[in-house]
Amino acid sequence: MSRSDSQGTENEPLYLSVMTNWYYGKQGHDDFGDVVEQFSSHALQKITRSTVPLLQWLGLPGNRRWLSGKLGLGSDDATDVHVEYPVRASCERCGQAKGRGKVSLSDAAIRFADGSAVLEAKCTEPIYASVSEWLRGGPRDNRERVLAHWGHLIGPTLSLTGQNAGGLIYQHVHRAASAQALAQGVAEGSRGEVVHLLFGGTDNTLYVEALKALKALLKGFGPEVGPRIWLAEIGATLNEKAKGHERDEDASQYIVETLATGGSIYDFAEPSFREIA
Ligand SMILES: [Zn+2]
Repeated sequence: MSRSDSQGTENEPLYLSVMTNWYYGKQGHDDFGDVVEQFSSHALQKITRSTVPLLQWLGLPGNRRWLSGKLGLGSDDATDVHVEYPVRASCERCGQAKGRGKVSLSDAAIRFADGSAVLEAKCTEPIYASVSEWLRGGPRDNRERVLAHWGHLIGPTLSLTGQNAGGLIYQHVHRAASAQALAQGVAEGSRGEVVHLLFGGTDNTLYVEALKALKALLKGFGPEVGPRIWLAEIGATLNEKAKGHERDEDASQYIVETLATGGSIYDFAEPSFREIA
């Protein structure tokens, strides 16, 4: 991508001075290529999984600066990028000892000098489970506790239950909680940002409607409650070379080698970007 939406050329030389630290989860690695190699071959088995366009997109500094500008966070590159970013599913307030408890992962989390964002990528995946479906899929008491925990991470006044949140997409709720947890870690009281990156030209109506429903619920608890939620729709088509691997049962070797060395699998179109308000 050539656009950077920089907020003024006076900051241009700073681009060169920002070094991006790369993490797989919370484990630091030397560079982007190293992080790509941490993924299991299963996670990068299929070329159409959203992790593939996400990693390619994330690996390009121009895209990170573009995102920073869109979020009003300046024109510098990210200071830190985490892929598979973990947030604990419980806390002391939930009766769990500090540092204990299972973690849930977001696709990526980015820190900039002036803020942060959690990224969620979607490509050809079908619509994810609703909160109601997720609650039914395991021990109910435990899952209700986890849901309540995501609620109080999103905002101290927030009480999430199967009744008020059942129709939402579970993953959207979790990403909102992750974004708030990340933002609080950067600066107490700051607001999180969640960016949903929708790659490819599939119909995302249900996905977007569910995000609007989440936003409406949050606003019911107060105008500034929870993260800002953004939608970036990015046309993505497989390039000629990649098309040869489209039907591979296991394309992981090709995917890892290509992405880790800065190669392309997808051609991206100019993104559209808007807030779910
Ligand atoms: Zn908690």
